[in-house]
Amino acid sequence: MHLSKLFIPILKDLPSEAKIKSHQLMLRTGMIKQSAAGIYSWLPLGFKIMKKIESIVREEQNSIGAQELLMPTIQSSEIWKESGRYEDYGEEMLRIKDRQGREMLYGPTNEELITDIFRTSVKSYKSLPQILYHIQWKFRDEIRPRFGVMRCREFYMKDAYSFDVNDEQARNSYNKMFYSYIKTFNRLGLKAIPMAADTGPIGGDLSHEFIILAETGESHIYADKSILEINLNKYEASDKSLEEMRKDFSSIYAVTDEKFKSDEFNKFVKKENQLKTKGIEVGHIFYFSDKYSKPLNCLIDNKGGSKTPVCMGSYGIGISRLVGATIEANYNNEIMKWPKSIAPFDVVIIVNISKNNKENLEKAEKVYKELKKQNIDVLLDDVDENMSNKFKKHDLIGIPYQIIIGSKTEQNKYEFKELKSKIQILSLDNIKSQLKK
Ligand code: ATP
Ligand code: MG
Repeated sequence: MHLSKLFIPILKDLPSEAKIKSHQLMLRTGMIKQSAAGIYSWLPLGFKIMKKIESIVREEQNSIGAQELLMPTIQSSEIWKESGRYEDYGEEMLRIKDRQGREMLYGPTNEELITDIFRTSVKSYKSLPQILYHIQWKFRDEIRPRFGVMRCREFYMKDAYSFDVNDEQARNSYNKMFYSYIKTFNRLGLKAIPMAADTGPIGGDLSHEFIILAETGESHIYADKSILEINLNKYEASDKSLEEMRKDFSSIYAVTDEKFKSDEFNKFVKKENQLKTKGIEVGHIFYFSDKYSKPLNCLIDNKGGSKTPVCMGSYGIGISRLVGATIEANYNNEIMKWPKSIAPFDVVIIVNISKNNKENLEKAEKVYKELKKQNIDVLLDDVDENMSNKFKKHDLIGIPYQIIIGSKTEQNKYEFKELKSKIQILSLDNIKSQLKK
């Protein structure tokens, strides 16, 4: 892609309405545009990054056997009346009337709808366990939408739902999802700490929030640093091993302010291991057993021949929030560097064409074609602008590698740079193999 032809509306100045780095940067680099309070359009650059996050989330869901489907954004109020949440949900729910006067709503979550789908089709324990998920826009009429995509009214979420015949099996599904969450966040270049959470209005007895460390987060966290060291590789995919994994995580102190007690913290965590900071919730998982299956009459025949409500859990990841959260975790000293797995491009060629330098541009086009041939996703910055502005701009856009083509480059050698590190002078072959790695 040539930057001169792309729709990336970069702003010259910091937008004054944005309070935190990720929000500033996303507006500044033309990733998003606000259309109403807490409602955003995703412009090409932001959309591309969000789609990359989405596909990693999807791969990891599929790899534990979860099956993707797609439920609508608009739901009927009927099922919410059956579960009792139509009243309980309160003002966060956006309620709509259709032309026949029927009460509809824009889904803030999907426990009711998935239970309705499940109850009409699955009747026997023999078809369990099942995990279903979708990736869909949600709407919650948050009282104070803020911080850009971090707390929106309309946001993009992966939500999964597990169905099991009894508590023990359901716990296995919960553990699998727990495991896949840690893996997902690792692949996104993030260290997420699972924290025992209150189950809140969703109810039930087992719940974890996944929180990444960031000064601008809304959650205060207190943890034993050693929780960051747990290595997933030592666990296998078996039920037993995953139960052990969850217990290992749970045995280390890690809580948000809701559960924090300073005497406990001091008692259970050595001084030098105490981690007190802020964090961003990027995922939340719940086991709530028959909370919805009972009122919605989602019954299955169990082994003994009697009917029981199916045991359910739900599992969310905030995909649109993750775009902002990744920036909060990686932006430092006016430089943003995207983790390679979700970077908008693999590499950018920054070419000096300030004095109408045709030679440089030709050289750049050649390099561009070579890299394209290798399936490297490359951006060519062919905009007519001085080099110092270009460097500043790319420090913000955050493409992890740069090839610089200016007056200094000799025959067949190029300046190559990984963001936040030193320039190297390399041949194109050398650059290719570095990028391939
Ligand atoms: P929070 O405590 O931040 O309000 P929640 O507990 O209401 O979140 P869940 O219902 O567990 O959120 O939703 C799952 C995930 O969806 C959250 O972990 C978060 O990443 C994301 N999410 C929730 N609300 C929002 C929002 N208003 N804007 C963007 N992402 C959100
Ligand atoms: Mg929560």
